[in-house]
Amino acid sequence: MRRKVIAGNWKMNCTPTEAKALCETLKPLVAGADADIVFCVPSIDITTVVEAVKGTDIKVGAENLYVKDSGAYTGEISADMIKDAGATYVIMGHSERREYFKETDADINLKVKKAIEKGLTPIMCCGESLEQREQGITLDWIRMQIKIGLQDVAADDVKKMVIAYEPIWAIGTGKTATTEQAQEVCKAIRDCIREVYDDATAEEVRIQYGGSVNAGNAKELFAQPDIDGGLVGGASLKADFGVIANA
Ligand code: PEP
Repeated sequence: MRRKVIAGNWKMNCTPTEAKALCETLKPLVAGADADIVFCVPSIDITTVVEAVKGTDIKVGAENLYVKDSGAYTGEISADMIKDAGATYVIMGHSERREYFKETDADINLKVKKAIEKGLTPIMCCGESLEQREQGITLDWIRMQIKIGLQDVAADDVKKMVIAYEPIWAIGTGKTATTEQAQEVCKAIRDCIREVYDDATAEEVRIQYGGSVNAGNAKELFAQPDIDGGLVGGASLKADFGVIANA
């Protein structure tokens, strides 16, 4: 039985002072959740958030990493830095990074491998644009993203990963995929993993839905057989995240 994983993606929100205050608001609200709860936060907030959630089961994640271990890469952060700061998860391949920072599936594959090498749990995002959905190529597109993103990643490592299906047209738009659409793609991702790896890997990997998840729609989405929780943007910055975590 896969344990649900509910991750907040704070994006570029919260100064360290605000992050501390948000943790104090959210801690009691997620305390009883029967799921892994992860706060993925801006890198400058990681140590503050790690300190603020000490003594709880909340895990902390970064929102990106750079694949080099150290050196002249001004502005980037390494997996070792993330780990030493106390985070255990890291988001990669978010559509905002693909769009604004031109990250490709090949870049994301390198990030997945670096995170695994360093003992961080990757949350690897995939998702189609509205145009691709309307062209009827959603499943082909997602299968390509999964296959390239996981190239040369061993089955045992995939089992420990999280994959987030996030239709781009549903991110931050208030438009949620229907439960049928979300389930269809999450199932297709699992089937793709079954095809590339095996049944055991497909059954163990956790697949989240993300895209305007809120207090009203979380329960129905998370009840779908192939949806193992959510990656939550806007609603992760407010008390609604408590309702989502308990959904
Ligand atoms: C996200 O950024 O990963 C996301 C799903 O955002 P939102 O919940 O705001 O749509």
